[in-house]
Amino acid sequence: MLIRFIRVSHYRREHAPLRKYLPSDITITQMHKYFIEKHNNVDCSYYTYRAFVRDRMKISFAKLGHEECEQCEVFGQHDLTHTKNSLDLDKCDICKKWNAHIKKATEARKKYREDGESTTEWTPMKICVSADLQKVIMLPRIDTFKQVLFTQRIIAFNESFVAVGKHQQTLGPSAVIWHKGLAGRKKEELCSAFHKYLLSQRDVLSIKIWLDNCAAQNKNWTLFSFLAHIINSSDIAANVLEIYFFEPGYSFMSADSFHHQVEQSMNSYGSSLNTGAGGKIYDFNDFQGAIEQVKMKNVKVLSMELSDFRDWKDHSSLMKIKKYSPRPYLSDIVKLKFERGSFSLWYSNEYNSHYTEVNFLTAKYLKNLTEPNVRSQSQSVTKSRKADIIKKLCPLMPENRRHFWEELPVSNEATNLSQDID
Ligand SMILES: [Zn+2]
Ligand SMILES: [Zn+2]
Repeated sequence: MLIRFIRVSHYRREHAPLRKYLPSDITITQMHKYFIEKHNNVDCSYYTYRAFVRDRMKISFAKLGHEECEQCEVFGQHDLTHTKNSLDLDKCDICKKWNAHIKKATEARKKYREDGESTTEWTPMKICVSADLQKVIMLPRIDTFKQVLFTQRIIAFNESFVAVGKHQQTLGPSAVIWHKGLAGRKKEELCSAFHKYLLSQRDVLSIKIWLDNCAAQNKNWTLFSFLAHIINSSDIAANVLEIYFFEPGYSFMSADSFHHQVEQSMNSYGSSLNTGAGGKIYDFNDFQGAIEQVKMKNVKVLSMELSDFRDWKDHSSLMKIKKYSPRPYLSDIVKLKFERGSFSLWYSNEYNSHYTEVNFLTAKYLKNLTEPNVRSQSQSVTKSRKADIIKKLCPLMPENRRHFWEELPVSNEATNLSQDID
C-alpha cells in the first residue's frame, strides 16, 4: 500500500539510487496513524514504524536541504583505519577519490559564496543565478490524507532561477512552472524551461547559472546543444553563458531556499480566501498563486504554454568528442562557457583552470542549424488517472476548482502508459 504514494524523484535517484522519496505533503505521522487504523490497532510504535520505512523500505521524505552523500558513505565504510585525518593517499583509491571529492566540494562552495557576496560584479545586464527543479509536488493538495493516499495525483514542476546572494536585492526569482498534464520532465522539457527563462531575460548581456551536478537532469549533450543554439540566437541579447556545477551532493543554492519559501507559501495558501483553511492547493492556478505569494522581492512566475515546449535535440557528435585528448567527460566537467559567434563549448574540470574549447556539434547540424519542433500536443495523463482524481478528489474541492481537472487533457492509455508512471 505504500507504493501508491511513492514518487521516485529523478533528481534524487542520481545520488541515492535505491532510495525513494515521498511528496512533501505526506508525513510519516499520518502514515503511521493510518497503518495502525488499517491493521486493527496493531502494536507498532511510531519509532519502529519510522525506522522500518526509512531503513528497510528505503523511503525518505522529500525534505529540502542536505541529503546523504554516496561518495562519503562509500568512504566511511571502506576501511575503518582510513579516516579523514588518516587518509592513505598513496595506495588507497577510495581515499584518493574522496579527497578529490571534498576538495571540489569546498572549492565550489567558495566560488559560489564569492558570487553571492559580490556587490559590484552583478548588474541588471550581467546576472548570476542558481537553477533547480523543485522536488516532488503533487496536485491536488488536500488535507484528506486517505483520499490522497489512494489516488494517483499529477506532478507539478517548478524550475526556478534565483539570483545568488546579495544579487537578490536587484534581481527577483523566476519560477518556470508546468504540470504533468502538459509535459513531463525529460531533457527537452527542461531545455524548454531554460528557454522560457532566457527569453524572459532577453536584454541581459551575460548570464551565469549554478546547477546541481546531476547527470541526467543538468549535465547532458541535449542541454549543451541547446545552449550553443540559444547563445547564437537573435531572441536573446546575451553574448556569454556560463554554467557552473556543484560537486554532487554538495549544492548550496539560492534555488533551494526559494523552494523552501514556495513550500511555506503552499502550506499557508488560501487561508485568506473563502476556500476554508490554508494549505490546500486544489489546482494549477492555486499552485501559481502560492508561488506569487512567496515573501521575496519581485517574484516572477512564468507558466509554460504548450507551444513553449520544443523537442530540443542532442546534436553532439561522439566521433568529434572522442578525438580530443584529453577527452572531455561529462562527469568530470565543473564549468562550461558558450559564446556568441561560436557553436563550440568551452569546458574545464577545475573551477580555477582555463577553459578548453570543444567543437562538439555534428557537421550536419552546423550546416543546417535546424530548429526544434514546437509541440502541438500535450503529453497528458491517462484517462484512468484523470477519472480517478475526478471521482475521489473533486468532491472534496470547491466547485470553481474542479474545472481544471475536468478540462485536463487525456492521452491514449496504450501508447502513453509508460509516461504516466513517475
Ligand atoms: Zn561527500
Ligand atoms: Zn582508504
